[in-house]
Amino acid sequence: MYKKEILYLYFIKEYKEYEAMLYFLQPSGKKITLRAKGFFKTDSKNIHRFKISTFIKTEYFSSPLNDYGILKTGEKINFDYKEKDSHLNLLNIINKLLILTEGDLNKQFYNTIYYLFSNFDVGILNWNLNLFYLLVQVLIAKSVYIELKKCVICNRNSEISSFSFDEGGLVCKRHLNKNIKLMSVDLIKKIVFLFKTKSLKRLNNLSLSFAEEKIMLSLYANYFNDILGYKINFYR
Ligand SMILES: [Zn+2]
Repeated sequence: MYKKEILYLYFIKEYKEYEAMLYFLQPSGKKITLRAKGFFKTDSKNIHRFKISTFIKTEYFSSPLNDYGILKTGEKINFDYKEKDSHLNLLNIINKLLILTEGDLNKQFYNTIYYLFSNFDVGILNWNLNLFYLLVQVLIAKSVYIELKKCVICNRNSEISSFSFDEGGLVCKRHLNKNIKLMSVDLIKKIVFLFKTKSLKRLNNLSLSFAEEKIMLSLYANYFNDILGYKINFYR
């Protein structure tokens, strides 16, 4: 099947002589591997055009009989922003996340990365918030049930006091412990909002205090470290 699509490139692997396997995320959130012939030949134009952490306008052939497709052409999309080390750090984490998560993700995951690229220079992006949102999208794509209405342990909907990835949702006052600490009602509302919103604009308008951001960081740090087995460096 012939397809024309803008794909996000997150990993490149050498394959046979001069060939490369390129790992992409599609707009649907599905992952696709494309074989690129002559990729590593020194006279190949591809080597200069294709780097990880870029969006590429591609034409390719895929077949249900193969677990990879064949890349026909590709052209890098340029976004208008000044590249900084902090951008690269963020994109490295996103790429790692794509490598570590098995199977397909969702549309919203792709859209979020696209949104980040389109808004890097706008100056309103909170990267930790966007990363947290991407993790939420991983859970949604994997159909992991997260309880957002009542305490996930006792089913009461009064005195909701925290949120826990380990438990799988909201937790009431009775079930706080040394790992599940009291959170403000306001922060709990913000966390629930992250699971519900599809609007990246509204997401990026959300304001977090330093203390709230610290709590969110520790939530997703634990998620990365325990569930994905990957240590990340944070921004603060
Ligand atoms: Zn409870």
